Amino acid sequence: MSGARKVHIKSFGCQMNVYDSQRMADTLAPGGFVETAHPEDADVVILNTCHIREKAAEKVYSEIGRIRVMKDEAAAQGRKMTIAVAGCVAQAEGAEIVRRAKAVDLVVGSQNYHRLPDMLARAENGERVVDTEFPADDKFAALAAPARAQIAKRGITAFVTVQEGCDKFCTFCVVPYTRGAEVSRSVAAIVAEVERLTDAGVREVTLIGQNVNGYHGLGEDGAPSTLGKLLRRLARIPGIARLRYTTSHSRDMDEDMVAAHADLPELMPFVHLPVQSGSDRMLAAMNRRHTARTYLDLVARMRAARPDLAFSSDFIVGFPGETEEDFRATLDLIETVGFAGAFTFAYSPRPGTPAADMDAQVPDAEKSERLQRLQALITAQQRRFNASFAGKRLDVLLEKPGRLSGQLAGKTPYLQAVQVMAPASLVGQVVPVTITELGTNSLFGELAERVEGPALSAAGA
Ligand code: SF4
Repeated sequence: MSGARKVHIKSFGCQMNVYDSQRMADTLAPGGFVETAHPEDADVVILNTCHIREKAAEKVYSEIGRIRVMKDEAAAQGRKMTIAVAGCVAQAEGAEIVRRAKAVDLVVGSQNYHRLPDMLARAENGERVVDTEFPADDKFAALAAPARAQIAKRGITAFVTVQEGCDKFCTFCVVPYTRGAEVSRSVAAIVAEVERLTDAGVREVTLIGQNVNGYHGLGEDGAPSTLGKLLRRLARIPGIARLRYTTSHSRDMDEDMVAAHADLPELMPFVHLPVQSGSDRMLAAMNRRHTARTYLDLVARMRAARPDLAFSSDFIVGFPGETEEDFRATLDLIETVGFAGAFTFAYSPRPGTPAADMDAQVPDAEKSERLQRLQALITAQQRRFNASFAGKRLDVLLEKPGRLSGQLAGKTPYLQAVQVMAPASLVGQVVPVTITELGTNSLFGELAERVEGPALSAAGA
């Protein structure tokens, strides 16, 4: 494409950042920008940063240093490269980034991506631009929608942000400070976006939000909606085969949401439900607003509604003040639930959060010893979960070419990756697969019965 300018967007951290990066690309596309995977060729490089990990800001500065070398090389060739920093570190550090990193031309907070074209134009005119306000206008309404061809290129599964921010203020977490208070998009806007996605061939949509089941967007009837109602509405959209949502808080899992798991075949029976600890003393110190008992009761109610429901979770070990007894309570909770997987972390302080200043920080050696024990238990549960499907039939959504020729890669309802010998015409279909082998990172299977490819053309009808 002659005259097109190139933008390289590097995403760090969670799926919400991946989604934001796509929407930034969509917003810049009408101005003639095309995406490139090669930062050295780009006219604009955007680092979409994450603040969750330890020393997040330091990692961003070292990444900026790497891009600055490319910027200098471009300048030596008479080409201008603009460097922008976006995402949670941009939101948290703002002007400090511009002060410390002279190569950065633009800092944009996570609520302001819709203003990017204007900000870029100013930066390209030599202004150093910082915009980290939490504006009153609706970022999502102002962000450009992706073109049909662009959606198709991204594949048959898609993420849709329905909610941003968090009001829970867990004492270890930076999200309420970097993403702000909870804001939900309207049902009408989400329905329109999902219809556009399915029209371009998307079959599976994952609704995302920092506290997704706190969703309370304006309903089509003018009253506030809930995540359960939203899912029921989305399940009626033609072409939707699968719906998922992440990340949830147990406190916001209302009875309608529990019932949605019983009522909606499109809603996949796999829920990521962070608990963090099994000790009520630690949960109180973390300000998690649930106890081990209320969490276990919720898991039981959800399993009663949908008996094949599987859970994954997040755990922090070595939170300030955690004793061996507290840690054992976490192991007990894991034994009781039986998880299909989990993200496990040794606690590390995030500057600006209450837990960072708490006394009784646990020594690193103790944290890593507990982390190893926790991970061993989770790995054993995950293996047992996967092994329970050996020889059984599972519905698999075939997503893309597999590792070997003649293979397609897909996902089970429980998000397990599966490699299946199947013709390419079946991409986008949910097919019954018999699991024949268990690999370390994926399952292997074969079509359980002869499945015909779609008779329709790729454009649909
Ligand atoms: S609920 Fe999740 S996003 Fe919100 S403060 Fe707690 S850990 Fe952070």
